[in-house]
Amino acid sequence: MKIALNSVVAMDYELRIGEDDDVIDSSDDGSFVFLIGHGNVIPGLEEALLGRGAGEEIQVSIPPEKGYGIRDDGKMIGLPRSNLPPDFVVEIGLPLELEDEKGHSFPVWIAGTHGDDVVLDGNHPLAGETLKFSVKLLSVRVATEEELSHGHVHGPDGHHHH
Ligand code: ZN
Repeated sequence: MKIALNSVVAMDYELRIGEDDDVIDSSDDGSFVFLIGHGNVIPGLEEALLGRGAGEEIQVSIPPEKGYGIRDDGKMIGLPRSNLPPDFVVEIGLPLELEDEKGHSFPVWIAGTHGDDVVLDGNHPLAGETLKFSVKLLSVRVATEEELSHGHVHGPDGHHHH
């Protein structure tokens, strides 16, 4: 079958970025399994997979707009150290969750320090990057009703409920 909305796809991949094509992420043991059409992977990757089938190998270069977005310097936040626990260690690249005024949590990444502030970056670390995926499609199946209602894949290789 061909990949379509609500397909469950298993694939191996390598993800490269930058002029040197550094491999920053990969999976080669069939453990990366996800549901198409539910925001589980970036839009550009879903687009590249639609209509393809098991056994195909795909090379795709995804612009930031269809990946993790354009970098927005307006998303840099300075947080006074006094707002953080005394034992807080600034570890660049570490993700944190912040809450907005409405109580919605959103992810930020520690970018560094500036004076007495810890600088947090609301841009995804891969924002602004063109993502070069090499994909090998392993299998394609139809999602179960339960998977569709949850919006994610269930075992053996997908999501497990605890
Ligand atoms: Zn579930």
